[in-house]
Amino acid sequence: MTDSNHHQWDFEADLIIIGSGPAGMAAAIKAVDEGASVIVVDANYDIGGHAIISGGHMALGGGTSAQKKYNIPDSPDTVFADLTDWSVVQANGTPDFRYNDRALMRAFADHCATAFEFLLENGVEFADKAPDNQGASTTGNSAPRENHAIWTKGAGLESPNAANGTAVMRPLEASARKKGVRFLLNYKMTSLVREPSSESNPGHVIGVNTQYNPHIMPGQTEPLKSFRSEGNIDSTKSQVALRARKAVLVATGGSTSHLEFRRMFDPRLTAEVQVGGEPYSYQDASGELAGMAVGAALWGLQHQALENGATMRAQRALATKYNYTTWKLESPIFPLVKSTGFNVKDWQDVILVNQVGRRFYDETKGDPPHGNHGLQVAEYTHNDHRNTAKLGYTPHKYNFVHAALAMNEYSEAPDYAAGPQWAIFDADAVAREGWKVVPPYVDPDGYFFSANTLRELAAKIENEYQAKPMNGEILEATVARYNSFVDKGVDEEFAKPTPKYKIQTAPFYAAWGTVIVHDTRSGLRIDAKCRVVDMAGKLIPGLYCAGESAGGFNQHGMGRCVTQGYICGTDAARRPRQGDK
Ligand SMILES: Cc1cc2nc3c(=O)[nH]c(=O)nc-3n(C[C@H](O)[C@H](O)[C@H](O)COP(=O)(O)OP(=O)(O)OC[C@H]3O[C@@H](n4cnc5c(N)ncnc54)[C@H](O)[C@@H]3O)c2cc1C
Repeated sequence: MTDSNHHQWDFEADLIIIGSGPAGMAAAIKAVDEGASVIVVDANYDIGGHAIISGGHMALGGGTSAQKKYNIPDSPDTVFADLTDWSVVQANGTPDFRYNDRALMRAFADHCATAFEFLLENGVEFADKAPDNQGASTTGNSAPRENHAIWTKGAGLESPNAANGTAVMRPLEASARKKGVRFLLNYKMTSLVREPSSESNPGHVIGVNTQYNPHIMPGQTEPLKSFRSEGNIDSTKSQVALRARKAVLVATGGSTSHLEFRRMFDPRLTAEVQVGGEPYSYQDASGELAGMAVGAALWGLQHQALENGATMRAQRALATKYNYTTWKLESPIFPLVKSTGFNVKDWQDVILVNQVGRRFYDETKGDPPHGNHGLQVAEYTHNDHRNTAKLGYTPHKYNFVHAALAMNEYSEAPDYAAGPQWAIFDADAVAREGWKVVPPYVDPDGYFFSANTLRELAAKIENEYQAKPMNGEILEATVARYNSFVDKGVDEEFAKPTPKYKIQTAPFYAAWGTVIVHDTRSGLRIDAKCRVVDMAGKLIPGLYCAGESAGGFNQHGMGRCVTQGYICGTDAARRPRQGDK
């Protein structure tokens, strides 16, 4: 079909939503509830984004039915006061809420309880227990606001990773399909289409261009298929253009997967730093770049710096490149993941070394406390500078992530990348932990090595991010020194509490354990209705953004994404149709 400006379109709907994560799905459902037609486009083979492999913890408060049921006092005003409180800081002094955009916080505060009820109405189930503060961060201090989705409908291929986040995304998907939302999967948005613009007559965003992006796993010939198919638009055309009669929503999840983009916020986020949520879906800044190409501004950029606790995380699973999560063998994307990896039960069983072979931290410390959340500050008073002194932890100058990404002697021009971190351990540690150190539990293709001596082990470490071979002499000296700390019962270097086990029994192992970047906290500038704002501070008509791709809101996770999706789905659906004037 062709419009009056001679644009060729393949499909059209009132609202074209790019991204089927919690922001996109909430917007899609709310918009069809409002009577709009919707097409959701996703670059992936299935819906869900990072959320479908997430932990399913949902931070929503402000007076939800769950809070009321368990007599937890909360209100929109309390949420707003919490999320704009400048006085609370993290262990390293980074303020959680000081740079939050006040208009966005007010909009969130006013809609978050409604968004919770909206999830229930659309089939999401939460554990029937009092909301708590587990699994969230940057949710504000005054009330517990964390709800936990439960998955009662079986596991397996419905979920890329048998994660609780599936209990959020599959019900939303079922509801969206039932209500008539259409899906164009395996198509990646490559650009937004905006009408010509002048100062007096800003052009509308009227559609998107997409590129076919099938997912064929190594060793297979057929592309992966989505779990559900009703409402899917069937196409294998190489390029598809979609016309948006009312608006386009960028809900692409953020920019952490784009190396150069993320380094604009913090140059230390070099290539070895992997991304939580990959390789299921990528947050590759395509939404931000497309928005910027039609004039959009960015917002809240300091939230993305490494100092901001939960933006970065310590490794959780070793011996796999995609190391935030232990993958399931039955995952449809396992051929990409390649190994399950394994979790560490006791950090006394390993030491962590940098790419040179030196320790850099007390391994037992793991993640620093990240973000602050409900009831963490005892006798909390809004905007009282003494809150910091009442935090329930001892501030320390640097944390695991800072230590891991510190410069070291292999870090050289032009990149100055700190390089990988490796967990070093021996056969006794493997026995104590019960690890299986063969594929598919480990990835021997650059992410797991073994040898009979430490020198041989260092020489074997070949990995795409390792600048030069690890220095065997240094690794031997590191282990000898650590073993002497075990004899003395004191870690004289990093004060690991009473080092317990020597690393002494061959074979010796090196397993990938590099820190990850977890969240995007900066993105396109939006107003309280999630409408995108340009570099002159003016609205770009017909363009919305929600979720991790939107800037100005420092909070981890799905709560803000769902709420912004709800706000934007409502507003976009109520716009007049373009071309119907
Ligand atoms: C392992 C893990 C555990 C987590 N646990 C929790 C938790 O317990 N609680 C919580 O609240 N949060 C959790 N999170 C964070 C949460 O998943 C994210 O905050 C949330 O999913 C972001 O939602 P979104 O809609 O902005 O983006 P996403 O969920 O990432 O969805 C974005 C979608 O856009 C698609 N896309 C991107 N670019 C394009 C393009 N150019 N064209 C078409 N499609 C595109 C992607 O394929 C993806 O499907 C977790 C994250 C991870 C990785």
